[in-house]
Parts: sequence; C-alpha cells; structure tokens
Amino acid sequence: MHWHQKGVEEVFDELNASPHSISSEEAGRRLAEVGRNELTTKRQKTPFELLLDQFKDFMIIVLIAAAIVSSLIGEVADAAAILVILVLNAFIGFVQEYRAERAIEALRMLAAPETTVVRDGTIRTIPAADLVPGDIVLLDAGKIVPADLRLIDVALLEINESSLTGESAPVKKSVQPISREDIPLGDRRNMAYSGTFVTYGRGSGVVVETGMNTEFGKIAALIQTSEDLRTPLQRRLAVFGKYLAFAAIGISTIVFVVGVIRGEQIILIFLTAVSLAVAAIPEALPAVVTIALSIGANRMVQSKALIRKLPAVESLGSVTFICSDKTGTLTENKMKVEEIYAAGEVYRVTGVGYDPHGEFLDPEGRAVDLSKQARWHLFFRGLVLNNDASVIGRNGTYEVIGDPTEIALVVMAAKAGLPKEDAEQRHPRVEELPFDSERRMMTTVHAAGDRFISYTKGALDVILERSAQELNAQAKPSSLNPEQKVKIAGKGDELAAQGLRVLGIAYKFYDKKPPADPDILERNLIFIGLVGIVDPPRAEAKEAIALCRQAGIQPVMITGDHPLTAKNIGRRLGLINEHADMLTGEELAGLPLVEFEERVQYIRIYARVAPEQKVKIVKALQDKGEICAMTGDGVNDAPALKRADVGVAMGITGTDVAKEASDMILLDDNFATIVAAVREGRRIYDNIRRFIRYTMTSNSGEIWTIFLAPFLGLPIPLLPIHILWINLVTDGLPGLALTAERSEADIMRRPPRHPKESVFAHGMTSHIIWVGLLMGAVSLVSQAGSLYFKFGDWRTMVFTVLTLSQMGHVLAIRSEKQSLFTQGLLTNKPLLGAVLLTFFLQLSTIYVPFMQEIFKTKPLGVRELAVTLAISSLVFVAVEIEKAWGRLRS
Ligand code: ATP
Repeated sequence: MHWHQKGVEEVFDELNASPHSISSEEAGRRLAEVGRNELTTKRQKTPFELLLDQFKDFMIIVLIAAAIVSSLIGEVADAAAILVILVLNAFIGFVQEYRAERAIEALRMLAAPETTVVRDGTIRTIPAADLVPGDIVLLDAGKIVPADLRLIDVALLEINESSLTGESAPVKKSVQPISREDIPLGDRRNMAYSGTFVTYGRGSGVVVETGMNTEFGKIAALIQTSEDLRTPLQRRLAVFGKYLAFAAIGISTIVFVVGVIRGEQIILIFLTAVSLAVAAIPEALPAVVTIALSIGANRMVQSKALIRKLPAVESLGSVTFICSDKTGTLTENKMKVEEIYAAGEVYRVTGVGYDPHGEFLDPEGRAVDLSKQARWHLFFRGLVLNNDASVIGRNGTYEVIGDPTEIALVVMAAKAGLPKEDAEQRHPRVEELPFDSERRMMTTVHAAGDRFISYTKGALDVILERSAQELNAQAKPSSLNPEQKVKIAGKGDELAAQGLRVLGIAYKFYDKKPPADPDILERNLIFIGLVGIVDPPRAEAKEAIALCRQAGIQPVMITGDHPLTAKNIGRRLGLINEHADMLTGEELAGLPLVEFEERVQYIRIYARVAPEQKVKIVKALQDKGEICAMTGDGVNDAPALKRADVGVAMGITGTDVAKEASDMILLDDNFATIVAAVREGRRIYDNIRRFIRYTMTSNSGEIWTIFLAPFLGLPIPLLPIHILWINLVTDGLPGLALTAERSEADIMRRPPRHPKESVFAHGMTSHIIWVGLLMGAVSLVSQAGSLYFKFGDWRTMVFTVLTLSQMGHVLAIRSEKQSLFTQGLLTNKPLLGAVLLTFFLQLSTIYVPFMQEIFKTKPLGVRELAVTLAISSLVFVAVEIEKAWGRLRS
C-alpha cells in the first residue's frame, strides 16, 4: 500500500512516530540509520585525487619525461631539482584548489535550507538535511517542501508541484486517504513532495521519505545535473588559456629550434623550452579566480551578504540599477501606529517602539480613554483579531512576534487596554482568507456568541471599495455615500503624504458560519476606521542611495504601498526630487512594453505594484541594456529574482522560494548591504585584474628574455631550474597576495563596468607587452653588461634581475592610479610579506652554498648586488611614471 492510501494514524503507526512529534534522541538515531535528507550529487574529489590532478597537465608530463631522460644520460642532480620544484608547484596548486573548494563548500553550508519542525513537542527550525521519517514539518506560503510528507493537517494549503509534474497550476491539498493505488503524483492530494513549494495557506505533514528515496530524489538519480557553475570570467579565461597555451608552445618551439641551430646541447635546450612553456601557461589562473571569488564571497558574509551563486560576485560589479522593496529594506520595518481615525474623530497615539504603554491624544492634546466606547472597542478588537502576530509573555515581559505591521496593531490595542489574548479567547477564529500582497487585504471570521463576525483589514482604498456602510459615532451602521468615501480617502491621503502606511478595517455579521468565499466575506462591509502607521526610513539607506548615485548606479524603490506614502519616503531617502518619475502598478499594467521601455530608465518609484509586475520591470531594464539587481521576499517575487542579473532575497523575511531563486541573500534585509556588496564585487574584480596583470606581465618578461637572447647573440640566459623557480616563487606568493588588496579610493566614484568588457581592458594588454619587454630588456642588459665588463657572474645577475624586477612590478601595480607612496607600503601586509620572503629566498639561491649548486649561481659582491638592485628597480620606476602620466591626463 502507498502512503497516500493510508489513514493518518496508520501512517504514524508504521513510522513508529506520534502526532506529538518524535524526540531529538530518536531523530538522531534515525538520522544515523537512514542518512541525511540530501540529494547525493556528484561525488567530491578526495584531496589525493586533487593533488594527482596537478600532474595531469600535458606540459608538466612532458617536462617530467624530459627530466627523467636527462637523468638517464647523466644530469641526475639537475633532473632531481626540476622534479622537486614541480612537486612543490603541484603542492601549491593543490593548496589553492583545495582552499577554493573549501570556501565554496563553506558558502554552500551557510546557504543550506532550513525547515520548521516539531521535535520534543516544540516548534523549532533545523537544517532540512537533518529531517528523518516521523518528523512533523510545518508548511506555509513560500516554504519549499523539504521531504516527502503525508499531510496531517491543512488550512487552504496549495502547493505548486511543477518541479515534479510539470503542471504549473497549484494543487489544493487535503488529508483524507485516497483508496486508489495507482494514481499519478499530481493527484495524491494528501501528500506533499520534496522540492515542490507552498503557494497559499498552511499545513503540516509527517515525513515519510527523505533524501534520495523521495520522488524528487528518484528523478535526480536519473538526471544528475551537470550545471556549469563557472562564472562568465572563468569561462572566458578558460578559452583564453587555451590560446595562450598554443602561443606558449609555439614560442617554446622557436626557442628550441633556434637553440638547436646554434648548436646548444639538445637535452638542455629541450628542457629550457619545455620549462618556458610550463612557466608561460598561467595554469593557476582559473584557481586564483575561483579563490578570489569564493574568498571574497566568504568575506561578504561578514558584511551580511550571502552569495548563493558565485557568478553574482562578478555581476555585482556591473550593476547599473538596484530595484529594492521598500518595507524593511529601505525602511526600518519597526512599525508604530501614529494616528487613528473613525467617524470623524482623530487621535494621535504616543509611545515608543513596541512598548505597550502609550496614550491616545485628541487634537487638543488631551489623553482620552477609548476602551469604553463601543465604536472604538470594535475598532481595536477587529485589528487584533484580524491579525497573525502572536503575543508571548516571557518572564513578565511583553513580546509580540510576526509581521511588523500587525505587531504595531497589537501594541496599539494593548495601549488602549484591549489585549489581543483576551479578544482571541472570547472570539476564536473559525475561518480565514489570508493576506496576500496582490489582494492587499485579509479577512478572518470569528465566533461572536451564537453568531459570527468577520473582519477585513487592508489597504484603505481596497477596504473602502468593499464597504457599503460606516459605523457611526453612535456605534450603529449608517449609509456610506460616495462623498463620505471621498472624505475618508482624503484623510487617508493626508496621512499617506506624511509617509504613513494607511490601513482600513471593516466588519460584517452572519447568523450562520459563512464559507471562506471572498464573494460573501469581502462584500458589503461596514467600515469602522483607519490607522496610519509610521515606518521610518533607515538612516544608512539614505547614505547608500547617495553612494549608488556616485557610483553610476540608479536606485529604484518598488512598493505595495500607497503612491503618496512611497513618495514621502522616497523624498526622505533622497531617492527622488519634486519632479521624479513615478508609476503605479495600475499604470504599469496598462502600458505596452515598448512604451514602458521608453520611460523605464527614468522611473525611480513604483507604488501599489504587485510582485508579478517586477518581472516586467526587470525585462524592460534589461532590454535597455541595464544590469539589474532586484530584491524580493515572497513566492511571487521568485520569477523576477531569477530573471534579474543579481536576484537578491531577504534573509530574515524572505521565503524559501525567494531564497532558492536568488543569487544573493541579504542576511540583514538591508538596502545598504546590497551597496556594500556591489563595492566588494568591484574590489574582487579589480583584484583578479591585478593578479592577471601581474602574472601575465611576469610571463611576458620571462618569454622576452629567453626568446630575444639568441637574436642578440647572447647565451641562453636562464636554466630550466631558474625558469621553474621564478614561476613557482615569484609568480606564486606575491600574485596570490594581490587578491588581498583593498579597494581603490575611487571604487564607488566610477561608473559600473560593462559586463562584456574584456578583463584586459583599459590598456592592460599593452602594459603586459611593454612592461614585459622592459623586464626582458633590463635582464638582457645586465647579462650583456656582465659578460662585456666581466662584472659578476652573468647567469646569477640575469636570474636575480628578472626576479627582483617582478617584485618591483608587483608593488607598482597595487593601484591602477595611485602611487605606492600615497598608498603606503603597509596597506597590504600579506603582499609586503610575500615580497620580502621572495627577496630573501632569492638571496638564498645566491648565498647559500647548496642552493648555489642547484641553481648554478655564484655569490655577488656588494657592488654587484647594488647594481643588480638598481637595475631591477627600473621596472618599478617606469610603472610609477606610467601611473603618474595617467593621473596627469585624467
Ligand atoms: P513593500 O512592497 O513596500 O516592501 P510590503 O511588502 O509590506 O511593502 P505588501 O505586503 O505587498 O507590501 O503590502 C501591500 C499593501 O497591503 C500595504 O500597503 C498595506 O496597505 C496592505 N497590507 C500590508 N500588510 C497587511 C496586513 N497584514 N493586513 C492587511 N493589509 C496589509
């Protein structure tokens, strides 16, 4: 028998579980037995396999083969030295890749989904991977079903099962057993399947299958997805790397042929050529890019931006529009009722934050007790009953949890001496039509003696539209004509223009319990009154918006709130001036895409927008060539988050579905965090460029040195071991330390980078060629000079000049504009450390006797060393002059 055929008790019996949940110990035992609730994706490489991978490179194999051949014909020491360097090189490569993998894994763990369960009789949040059969899972709108569940309780629960069945219309769920055995998954209405998501309502279910045993797991086993997770930059660099490898092999071949023609020893010139190829192919490039991105992403977590998809780090640097929700992101989401209105009377509400103490002041400033007046009584009661926030009294303190709008209402009623707990006890909820941002209202039905009462609260215009009567000053329903509606709406507008969120409340009586039907519950209502709720703009959002502007990024606010409220907040945030363009959801719906696209780049506020409309906004912006970040929290935001270049989900208020669709999660729901992430994205990209500039220029210098020497009639300047040493030591450590560079001072004062812009843009290619040539030139001049003037050992001098000029270069390119002297040596300590270490390692190859043997060097005298240092510093000086020239021109 299948799970869907069984009754709820039977399911619990079979799972050896109880409707009151299982204990943590039992869950631990089951977890050990059935394994984690995870889809086993591709097997991860073991560290050993990763290490072995480092030797798989074709040129490395050739080099190893050549070294072995050379040892067979006598050069055992040389060959051994080459092998040692290769092993070290492989080890460094391994450490880099291992770190990159760990960093990505750490991010994955942070973004791992959680789920709400009942364990040990209490509700708690646990990692979804820890679920076991027998656990009771709670579901509500926006939750992704974490395992296969047999439903035990549903309240209007609807689930979208398109990931499993392909059917996009949500399925209404129930709990009754279904007798037929062989029905498709989509018809098993008392089941909720892993990987599907709740679109509406609430429910709970007991876990029957986890991990690969779920229906989703069975499909996943068939189609192991091989998604390409590389970023655009990584992909482009991979292609570029291939071309470069060909070029390097071409040049090495020339070096080899010329060497043979000149009568060099064949095995030596062959080793030199292959070493050159190994050194010139920047095999570390992809790993360094991954490290820079993933370590950068790990750093971003500290500033509350959690990257879910690595390519987002790159896209962040190109963002031109940030479209943000208002409530909670641009505002504090600490709501407080400021003003209330009913039947012509207005009161201001005093008090601080969520503290349930405050007064109701009439226009003359006198405190009034409203709790005794029947009309206000109904007003407060309606607002706390039609309300999902819950009060928890903890150690005598008063705490309310839930949606801040609703908390504000509960707190207000407490100030009036009408606590939510009392109202709920007296009038239990029997039916509901939940809130959703599209309807902009919600309705609840409550027992009222032997009758029933429904309350509907929502955006004022929506409530007024559905009201036929008004509760008058005598607490009697009286007619509500269009003029009166205009007057009430005018009062609402007045509050909205002050930046308040305005909600209306209405009621209706029934003799019999009414069904959950909007046509019955939300028609011909009796209007009671309205509340104006403040939600102050976040202080840091104003600064962040100004920063966006400087950085060539347009911030845009998208809100479900009233246009006047939106405008007021927009103005206070510095988002708009008097003439800024604003659009409402209604206007947007009526506007053909082409016409909308004409205006989209100028609109800064969208008000009364439904989440579905966000997709239209993203699309229009993208059609105009903009790169768009978009925030969202609900199920309906998911399509826009997916479509946006950077989809940003809220960490605190966001639903599973929104998070799953996003590229980045804001752990603090704060707009300023997006801007901080943009800054970090730009920095990371700059550092990748620094690394590329450094390694490629170094490689170019090495190539020029070896390639040009024969044409100038000089002997081969470097031995294979020198080339490999430079590749290992000089390129390795300082290059890596460049990725720790801080951001340039003007990082948020320059326009966003075009996403198609080459990583070699802004003169990098010419830099690589000319500085490389200069490095080659100073090395060859020192070689020629040494030979000509019999000054020092020429081999030692070339080797040292080449290495040290690269150190000068790395210091000079820390900034693309500033000079090192303005920047300060100590602002990148890892780099300074790497440069000093390389310097001393280099000296050790000259002065430590056994190293002299390996590297075939001779100690340099003081004068020789001084000349070597002087020549080496030329590259530094030249690049500083290049930057100074750039500063002069800009
Ligand atoms: P924003 O879109 O600015 O981020 P939001 O997401 O809170 O704000 P919605 O939740 O879409 O906006 O709310 C839209 C409108 O619905 C609000 O302007 C308000 O009038 C109404 N509303 C909000 N919360 C409730 C609620 N709990 N009950 C009834 N109506 C509500």
